[in-house]
Amino acid sequence: MELNTLTIEVLRDKLKKKEITAPDILNSLYKRIKEVDKKINAYVRVKDLKPGNDQFFTFNPQLPLGGIPVSVKDNICTEGYNTECCSKILAGFKPPYDATVIKKLKEAGAIILEIKTNMDEFAFGSSTENSCFGTTANPWNINYVAGGSSGGSAASVAADEAIVALGSDTGGSIRQPASFCGVVGLKPTYGRVSRYGLIAFASSLDQIGPITKDVRDCAIIMKIISGYDPYDSTSVNLEVPDYPKVLGMDIKGIKIAVPKEYFVEGIDPEVKKIIQEAIEQLRELGAQIKEVCLPHTEYAVAVYYIIATAEASSNLARFDGVQYGFRFSNSELNLIQMYKKTRGAGFGQEAKRRIILGTFALSYGYYEAYYLRALKVRTLIKKDFDEVFKDCDCIVTPTSPTPAFKIGEKIDDPLKMYLSDIYTISANLAGIPAISIPCGFTKDGLPVGLQILAKAFNEEILFRVAYAYEQATPWHKMKPRL
Ligand code: GLN
Repeated sequence: MELNTLTIEVLRDKLKKKEITAPDILNSLYKRIKEVDKKINAYVRVKDLKPGNDQFFTFNPQLPLGGIPVSVKDNICTEGYNTECCSKILAGFKPPYDATVIKKLKEAGAIILEIKTNMDEFAFGSSTENSCFGTTANPWNINYVAGGSSGGSAASVAADEAIVALGSDTGGSIRQPASFCGVVGLKPTYGRVSRYGLIAFASSLDQIGPITKDVRDCAIIMKIISGYDPYDSTSVNLEVPDYPKVLGMDIKGIKIAVPKEYFVEGIDPEVKKIIQEAIEQLRELGAQIKEVCLPHTEYAVAVYYIIATAEASSNLARFDGVQYGFRFSNSELNLIQMYKKTRGAGFGQEAKRRIILGTFALSYGYYEAYYLRALKVRTLIKKDFDEVFKDCDCIVTPTSPTPAFKIGEKIDDPLKMYLSDIYTISANLAGIPAISIPCGFTKDGLPVGLQILAKAFNEEILFRVAYAYEQATPWHKMKPRL
């Protein structure tokens, strides 16, 4: 077995028994990256790939992640390593500090890779086609997108170019690419994981989370990255449960809700069938299935694209060429002209579209009509979930209405692209946790993901249900042929 194909648990066992060393794991990953990443483009700046990494030598086998390499999305700050959000405007930016999640991973013994994973610029997108480093291809069929915005993280795990990866999820960016690539991805409860050092897209929606080969690895990483952080005032001071401990508990009698609004027009018939089979499987495992209503679902896309762009337009105002990243330089320009030229040349098309949309929604006279109204509907969407969770332990839905789509298919039609986020964005609006796990394949051999959602700070139930399903099905063991 090649080491790059294995999970944390198996690798840790081999390390403890001294069958392998930490450099062996890294070397097998680098070999794989060299072999396949030309086709996939899961990593950016691969030319900086170095066979020896300093953290190697400080690797401590006693630590829970001692010797395990972790791949990181290009919007999470890594001290001294380029972090550019796959945007020209941040070209050359090397953060002077680590994001809290990186600090925690390093303290747990993880090796942080210097090459980062590809993403849509500033996480704006659902296909990783909006990256200044080119599109990431789906390892199951390289003519298809890997999903987005954490497409590089999901594809790297699926193609065994990573053991585990971190992504960020503002409206589905961990779950949707995980679903398209046939791997596990979790968006934690808002406030569960520190956002300190995550380059902000929409601060009221963003969360960092793991993308992994199986549910156990996801639980292992979550236990390490979760918890209160004084540097993030929105992180919540609640004890972190021992997530891996709930794996293996049965799901008999667990009440699972299926929202009928998620199975109406727009869903691909093959996806629908695969999800229905997964629901049947959960029933066989002892869960009680109940149909429920989430009546405000139809407004989710509109609400999200007002709130997310409004917050993005404000967050992106800081990129002006003064302190870091790219600057359009020409000695004839005054300061205002320099700002304009820098932003004009530094941001890609989708980033500009979002800044314009968001600025419009926040401008005088429109603020009440759009932004405030969207906030009110956001509350209604959250209340829909509160209502369901009064009586149910979790909700299952498809992660995405379709399997991966072809590269180029939606890139010229932003509305079509935005609509494909219909099933993932509500969890961010409501602040609740949601996981995507592999649940089958289409006739064309593309993976389909099952989404499970739970009450805020109830990730344990997600792990419990996801693990029970995973252990009863073969999907997580399937590998793309590259
Ligand atoms: N696809 C969504 C968007 O483009 C979500 C992106 C994300 O979660 N970062 O906004």
